Amino acid sequence: MVVEFHNEPATDFTDQENQQAFKDALKKVKAEFGKEIPLVINGEKIFTDDKYESVDPANHQQVLGTISKASKEQVDQAMEAAKEAYKTWRKWTPKERAELLIRVSAIIRRRKHELSALMVYEAGKPWNEADGDTNEGIDFIEYYARSMMELAHGKQVFDREGEHNQYIYKPMGPGVTIPPWNFPFAIMTGTTVAPIIAGNTVLLKPAEDTPLIAYKLIEILEEAGLPKGVVNFVPGDPKEIGDYLVDHKDTHFVTFTGSRATGTRIFERAAKVQEGQNFLKRVIAEMGGKDAIVVDENIDTDLAAQAIVDSAFGFSGQKCSACSRAIVHKDVYDEVLEKSIKLTKELSIKHTEGGSDVYMGPVINQKQFDKIKNYIEIGSKEGKLEVGGKTDDSKGFFVHPTIISDLKSSDQIMQEEIFGPVVGFTKCDNFEELLEVANDTDYGLTGAVITNNREHWRQACEDYDVGNLYLNRGCTSAVVGYHPFGGFKMSGTDAKTGSPDYMLNFLEQKILSEQF
Ligand code: NAD
Repeated sequence: MVVEFHNEPATDFTDQENQQAFKDALKKVKAEFGKEIPLVINGEKIFTDDKYESVDPANHQQVLGTISKASKEQVDQAMEAAKEAYKTWRKWTPKERAELLIRVSAIIRRRKHELSALMVYEAGKPWNEADGDTNEGIDFIEYYARSMMELAHGKQVFDREGEHNQYIYKPMGPGVTIPPWNFPFAIMTGTTVAPIIAGNTVLLKPAEDTPLIAYKLIEILEEAGLPKGVVNFVPGDPKEIGDYLVDHKDTHFVTFTGSRATGTRIFERAAKVQEGQNFLKRVIAEMGGKDAIVVDENIDTDLAAQAIVDSAFGFSGQKCSACSRAIVHKDVYDEVLEKSIKLTKELSIKHTEGGSDVYMGPVINQKQFDKIKNYIEIGSKEGKLEVGGKTDDSKGFFVHPTIISDLKSSDQIMQEEIFGPVVGFTKCDNFEELLEVANDTDYGLTGAVITNNREHWRQACEDYDVGNLYLNRGCTSAVVGYHPFGGFKMSGTDAKTGSPDYMLNFLEQKILSEQF
């Protein structure tokens, strides 16, 4: 068990001082627009001729920064640096590594609003979501540092007459971190720091939509004194260097978070032993979801509607845990639907720099915008468009929160991950059927059950096949150390981020047995 861990508290934006501090941070970040971001290999900043731009999804003409792109040769150089750094970094004690990382979290805490403000522009995050993203990054560091301290001396095995035995944990070697854009600080930070706290070294390839916020972590790691080569920064086009990073003979592990298509590709490719490779690669693949809120009869319909709307539309539904299916008992279906529509109509949608009261910003990019729009068209034919459906990409990629009702479980929008502000409603006759529909998906990430029937909750605990199951609340907002996160089925390898077991993903176990 990890002791003395406290979550980073959310910023109270009703406090005028906090409001002002955040506005100042937005100004500071804005003043830095147009910056050039290098690769960082062995601590050296490398500006390449081949570059791409990071833009504001709420104002896509606004270039936020220009990013150097790593070539395959530069990936090789980064891997050499990571191999070299590993020789000494692995010999730092867990305590020494943890202390350095705690220093990193202290710097992040000091620069919290600046990081969150950058996510307002680069990811279109509302203030509270951006604040939560930064706080979760801090939580991951604090939690994993403590967790590694607890594993520092291994676990107990038994001695017997004439024999002393030890069971200890060792790092594995250099590996690759591939994060998504939707938690561009938290997930990127968590999946970069966990392997290094364990004593490994890393090549970090940030998501192409959010390289600027990833570079902030690189700056902070340098400021905290992380030795050169422990984390190497290799932004680039995944089509050019994605497979190369995964296939590399010296890649010992890949920690990936993203879509099912990419995750399964990585899983498959990493299984192949390359020439010169004398170990098996480990893959952590945290992938998509088709998460549902199951609503039983005899419940508080206000609570159900609020849970559905919050979980479906927070950060424009761009969370792997977002509620994209509301599966509702026939006796309360009309009431829950009506209340959800009413709440949805009250949501504001615009550029999130406008203030802490803006509920929703844009979706991340043109590709996602087009994909979501297409799903709304399909869904409007499969069921009934109740609210939303409006889209506008003239300035930013805005999709209004959308509810589609009267769907069947087999409908396309009830089966495929949309990753946008769209939720489908379907009706069932009894609790068995509600659970059957909830499980009728390839995914198994999160789910929530709204019920006052304890027997039904017990049944859901047994039979609802998801990694994170919640009672009488929404299906988003997992908290590090409280709700370790990860899914079943095609949602991934269930590595459970923020759990007491997570560090084991980056460690090997060794037995030392002495005869007296
Ligand atoms: P994505 O798969 O398109 O990209 C994720 C990362 O993979 C990016 O860094 C991208 O550059 C990289 N990538 C793409 N092709 C690659 C290749 N061939 N080889 C190596 N790397 C490659 O996913 P996304 O659109 O960035 O993220 C959204 C998805 O992430 C959704 O499906 C969402 O559910 C999922 N997600 C899951 C979790 C979780 O914990 N289970 C958390 C957040 C997001």
